[in-house]
Amino acid sequence: MEKEVSLMVKPNVEKKYKGGYPLILKEAIMNLSDVKEEGTLIQLVDQRNSFIGRGYYGRQNKGYGWILTNKEKEIINESFFEKKLSTALQKRTVLFEDNQTTAFRLFNGEGDGIGGLTIDYYDGYFVISWYSEGIYRFKEPIIHSLQRLVEYKAIYQKKRFDTGGKYIEEDDFVTGVRGEFPILVKENGVNFSVYLNEGPMTGVFLDQREVRKTIREKYAKGKTVLNTFSYTGAFSVYAVLGGAKKTTSVDLANRSLAKTEEQFQVNNIDPAKQEIKVMDVFNYFNYAVKRNIKFDMVILDPPSFARSKKRTFSAAKDYKNLLKDAISITNENGMIVASTNYSGFGMEKFKGFIEKAFEEMGERFDIIEQFSLPEDFPYHHAFKEGNYLKVVFIKKRSKS
Ligand code: SAH
Repeated sequence: MEKEVSLMVKPNVEKKYKGGYPLILKEAIMNLSDVKEEGTLIQLVDQRNSFIGRGYYGRQNKGYGWILTNKEKEIINESFFEKKLSTALQKRTVLFEDNQTTAFRLFNGEGDGIGGLTIDYYDGYFVISWYSEGIYRFKEPIIHSLQRLVEYKAIYQKKRFDTGGKYIEEDDFVTGVRGEFPILVKENGVNFSVYLNEGPMTGVFLDQREVRKTIREKYAKGKTVLNTFSYTGAFSVYAVLGGAKKTTSVDLANRSLAKTEEQFQVNNIDPAKQEIKVMDVFNYFNYAVKRNIKFDMVILDPPSFARSKKRTFSAAKDYKNLLKDAISITNENGMIVASTNYSGFGMEKFKGFIEKAFEEMGERFDIIEQFSLPEDFPYHHAFKEGNYLKVVFIKKRSKS
């Protein structure tokens, strides 16, 4: 491969990068303008020109590329990629052998050693996400490595490097035999209907596997459940299978109605016995308060940022108020499952929002359980932002 460009880190962040920090940040580099071409191999050096790491240049929504190794002798070539993929595969042996779970993450970006790249597995189908044009330049060696390591029905890809890190709409099929979608995959014995060639999302967020299982096994029985920002209703499906009395799923997107019915149906649940509302969650809260509708369980899983006609929601600014709304329609001794995938704050700050929300509502709570990313979503030791998922099961205490 071509010659590496040397990038020099600024003195104030030298320690951070020597400690293994993998993301190339604009403000950390003296001479970032020396590299222009996406996919250029770069060598990170300190002020004395000594080697710190080696990686590639690739602009994504956060950062300008990733360091892939801190070993001076290690070079980035096809066998490098193959080694990373092979290690990642070995780590998922238990999942591959579990016939009750046929969808999971196979490769989790920098957590598995290659920032900007993820690969998800859906029952013989592989979906590669490229987060920059830079990593996409390594498409050939990466896909060839994957092809040597696994048997596959087909490989699909998502290019997530349009302006602002947006998905590029196109035919996502790469190679193999085209699937007929939806295909049915399993997660802890539950069916999911997934579409691998219909835009950026497939129908299920794989990182919530343990949370869904916990809802089904421990908290749903006999309960009325409100699932907000419900998308295809995955949490609702698990709640019903766990014996919930009734679920109400609320999502603004028109597609969510048919998609949620479909997820119920593939699990032999009659959608007519559940409630599915296509509406703004915040309007739903007002509606429920007016009619004095309350729930035993309220699930909150908003996007980090969302813009609807009337308002914008940002997890950092608005999560506390979202919790307050939820508290107001949760029964005493009921449960709020508060989830966020926003990487800009950590678990402690999230718990701070929870505390504040209950305090301002004059209510008390107990934290019953908490979750972060599951094992197939490992994060990099020097990149804690990669551990973005935070889910807290909160019990609203009774007043008496
Ligand atoms: N909880 C889901 C994933 C949520 S994805 C799951 O487990 O699968 C975020 C969803 O929030 C999207 O489907 C989007 O349509 C919805 N959404 C965003 N803003 C909303 C709002 N104000 N009211 C209702 N839904 C909203």
